[in-house]
Amino acid sequence: MSRHSKLYSVFFNKCPRCGIGDFFVTKNAYNLKNFDKMHKRCPHCNENLVPEPGFYQGALYMSYSFYVAFMVIYFLIFVNFFEKYIDYFLISIIPILIILTPYFYRLARRAWLALFIKPSSNELSS
Ligand SMILES: [Zn+2]
Repeated sequence: MSRHSKLYSVFFNKCPRCGIGDFFVTKNAYNLKNFDKMHKRCPHCNENLVPEPGFYQGALYMSYSFYVAFMVIYFLIFVNFFEKYIDYFLISIIPILIILTPYFYRLARRAWLALFIKPSSNELSS
């Protein structure tokens, strides 16, 4: 995947502009002390990663859509392949969603910012 694609920055914790600087301070979504700490500006290209106060409230809708998409896919897998064990869908979905929370939180913020920032085609430009 090209470094200059939005998906690259969303999935690999990179600045959506340059694809080089990190978005969150730690790469580990399960570092419980620091998983939500963001860079205010891209350490590589100095892109503003917090355009305005409250900007990331919109990321709530992103994470909501990720949860829904995940549950639908997970449900379809159960229905198609493990129909006998469908009771386990309800039992397992709650802990799985809790475990995915920090991951989706970060994914949603990166996806939300990536909607508004065009990746640069030139690594040297900012
Ligand atoms: Zn950058």
